[in-house]
Amino acid sequence: MDGQTRLFYGTRRRRPKLARAEGAYIWDVDGRRWLDGSSGAMVCNIGHSNPRVLDAMRAQMEIATFGYRLHFETEPSERLADRLAQAAPDGLGRVFFTSGGSEAVESALKLARSHALAVGQGQRWKVISRFPAYHGCTLGALSVTGYAPMTAPYAPMMVQMPKIPAPRAWLDGRPLDDPATGQHYADMLEARILEEGPETVLAFIVEPVGGASTGALVPPAGYMARIRDICDRYGVLLIHDEVISGGGRLGRWFAGDHWGVVPDMITISKGFGSGYMPLGALIAKDSIAETVLDHGSYPHGFTYAGNPLACAAGLAVMDVIEDDGLMPNAMAMGEQLAARLRALMQRYGFIGDVRGMGLLQAFELVSDRDSRAPLPAALNAYDTLVEAAYDEGLIIYARRSRGGHSGDHFIVAPPMIVTEAQIDEIIEKLTRALDRFAQ
Ligand code: PMP
Repeated sequence: MDGQTRLFYGTRRRRPKLARAEGAYIWDVDGRRWLDGSSGAMVCNIGHSNPRVLDAMRAQMEIATFGYRLHFETEPSERLADRLAQAAPDGLGRVFFTSGGSEAVESALKLARSHALAVGQGQRWKVISRFPAYHGCTLGALSVTGYAPMTAPYAPMMVQMPKIPAPRAWLDGRPLDDPATGQHYADMLEARILEEGPETVLAFIVEPVGGASTGALVPPAGYMARIRDICDRYGVLLIHDEVISGGGRLGRWFAGDHWGVVPDMITISKGFGSGYMPLGALIAKDSIAETVLDHGSYPHGFTYAGNPLACAAGLAVMDVIEDDGLMPNAMAMGEQLAARLRALMQRYGFIGDVRGMGLLQAFELVSDRDSRAPLPAALNAYDTLVEAAYDEGLIIYARRSRGGHSGDHFIVAPPMIVTEAQIDEIIEKLTRALDRFAQ
């Protein structure tokens, strides 16, 4: 048995062995090269092997690579907490570090619960979420995940949480506003809170712009503000899961800022560490943290939380994004990418929708555009198209969203350093892959 067979990641599929990664490209040990069109899993926002980040990490390694957070604080963790709080909307000034997105979501769910207990509302425990949505693979995060391929194999969830549909107006053929009833898509949250009993509802968790499971679903106008209003009306905490949408690829540190909505908590990870180190965080309102410290407790923590090497990498990543103007570049290149993907709709009738924001773009496959019926499962679009792109030297991120919600969708999300020439390269490679798929 070789090393790769021993690595048990729940698949028998063999993967090439990575030899080197630089900028937007990855090479394997046989010298094959791929354009990393999905930044891994929307992680490597600033591209691979950025010398500034590597220098910052080397410098920190010479000082200390670990300090247990309950014994010592470190310069990088204090500075990064400060930096994140400054980037976050006013009022969100408390940072709890984690090593990834699932840990950040767990931290948010537990802080929400601690807060309810601290303010004498212990009967509030239900966290409403949406489907489709992905919030992580730990059991708490999974219980608010509305994505059958990840949840069904473990059903029933240890705690089954209520879910409402995400506003997939395109797929549902359901208008955002129904003039007959005056109903708005966001009102489904209010209806669900009332159905559950407002006194039992703790929080609502939502990706401002949907990531993996929805395929870059951008909320319709008015949706985010209306969600905030409904949460306020019923004393429900609003958690923005920005694990994919945060970090700059949508043109802001936090995608929620596009709608000026201030949540009670934000979870981040992926792009903030940009693949250099495992890094995540929960950013919470000062008022929530203060209340919990005054009247309750929050016995919670991960051993590697606030790891100084991870925080040093995170600080350097934020410096690079700011100093190199990567957020404006993400928006400009994102527009080009979106336009080029939309143009592919003329050529391929089976592309049913192109959607996204900044450098988080997605296209969805259908067998019929009018009915939006999915492609037959026998075509196995998920594997076939990904493999075809892979053979062409392009990595795209696919989701078999056939969890009952939509067709297979594919995310194109290159690093924020991507150039116009590289957008051309992505489209050329994708076109060749789509031609092969169409045959
Ligand atoms: N939330 C969202 C929105 C995600 O996309 C992900 C990962 N894809 C997670 C949470 C979980 O993050 P991690 O895999 O780092 O635990």
